[in-house]
Parts: sequence; C-alpha cells; structure tokens
Amino acid sequence: MKGLVLDLWKHLLALVYPNFCLLCEETLDYSNDKALCPHCESAHPHLREDLCELCGKPLADPFDSRCFDCGKRPHFYEEGRSIWVYEGLVKQSIYDYKYKKRKEYGLLFAKELIRYYNETIRWEVDMVLPIPLHKHRLRERGFNQTELMVKHFAKSFDLQMGGKKVLWRNKPTEPQKTLSDKGRWDNMQDAFFASKAHVEGKTILLIDDIYTTGSTMDACAKVLKIQGAKAVYCLSIAIGRGM
Ligand SMILES: [Zn+2]
Ligand SMILES: [Zn+2]
Repeated sequence: MKGLVLDLWKHLLALVYPNFCLLCEETLDYSNDKALCPHCESAHPHLREDLCELCGKPLADPFDSRCFDCGKRPHFYEEGRSIWVYEGLVKQSIYDYKYKKRKEYGLLFAKELIRYYNETIRWEVDMVLPIPLHKHRLRERGFNQTELMVKHFAKSFDLQMGGKKVLWRNKPTEPQKTLSDKGRWDNMQDAFFASKAHVEGKTILLIDDIYTTGSTMDACAKVLKIQGAKAVYCLSIAIGRGM
C-alpha cells in the first residue's frame, strides 16, 4: 500500500513538475533547469550558428546570409529564431504535446525556451504574445499549447504577456500543414486582428511552436505593425531547414 501511495504521489508530482527528458522521457533531477538529458542535449544542440539572419533557419550554405525564402520575400517582423530543426524526436514531442494532450510538456518546452532566450537572444522586448488559436480550434484541442508555454516563459522573465484582447484570430483557417506555400499566405490573409491601444509603440515578441514558411508569424507581425508596434521579433520551438 505504501508503495502504491508513493507511486501515485510521484505520478501526480510529475504532472505538476515534470521531471523527464522532453525527447526521450528519461527521468531527470527536479532541480534541473534543462528539459533534456545529457544524451539528448548533445544529440540535439540548440540552433546557434550558420542561420539565416532573418528567420533563423539553418542554412544549407553557411556562406549565405539569408535562406531562399527570405531572399524571395521580405518579412513584416525584424528577426526570428528557433530552438531546433523540426524533425525526429523534436517533431514527435511537439506532436504529442498538441495532439495527445500531454500538457505537462508545456513546462518542459518553456524550460528550453527560457534557456535558449537567456543564452542566445539579445532582443529587448516590452511584451510577449502567443500566436492565438481560433475559438473553434481551441474548443477542438482543449488548450492553446503555445499560450501554456508562453505563460511560464513570461513569468520567468517578468514580462507582460498579452492575451486575446491584444491579438486575436477572427477567422478559422485551414491547418497550414495541408497547404502549399502560396496557399499558406492566402489562408492567413485577414486572419488576425490587433488592438492599437495595447501594441502602439511597443516591441513585441511573438511565440509559436513551429515556423515553416513564416506566413503565420508574418500575418501577425503585419497587423501588429499596422496598429503601431515599434518592432516585432519571433521565437519558435522548431523550424524547417533553409535552402
Ligand atoms: Zn533524453
Ligand atoms: Zn530565412
């Protein structure tokens, strides 16, 4: 009985303070400020070098300064960075977090976002905003995975976090992964609105889970700029590879 109570207690504790590796689920020390075990950390280093100067995609040719997408099309945001490439175990973890509703992953992703931001990023921001979900999608999924990570992130840096009164999605959009590049842009047109009263003159950090072509980040950055935001930066968990 004692063992059973202990197991139950450990299970409950892990839900509130998850203590396992985000990628392989090996048990970690509670005091660890990393969400990765030493093996996964060396196998999945954070993206730091040879990145596109605009969107942060790893470049196929390190002598380039911008990826193919950014050379082709300007962005509405100033600069973007991502922790990892969207592949393998990183891709699997994001999938489990979103679709298998592993909410405890939110704190683990936040730990890595905080560590990456501390070690790599030098932006001075006034407010952090999660990319909003449309209310239909929110109802279907039960939670906004990005908002959950951003809550922990904002708290740790004592940053103001804006919610749906600041930036909101006014039309349900098709899931981006089913669309072509052009389709993604069209899909995002007029999808977002921002409040001038909340964003005017501010430097804003947008956070999302995955950056593919940047059409979602750009659509949000565009409405924030129209409403007077001074600058917009983008941070995501994972990003595609640049050509
Ligand atoms: Zn691991
Ligand atoms: Zn780029």
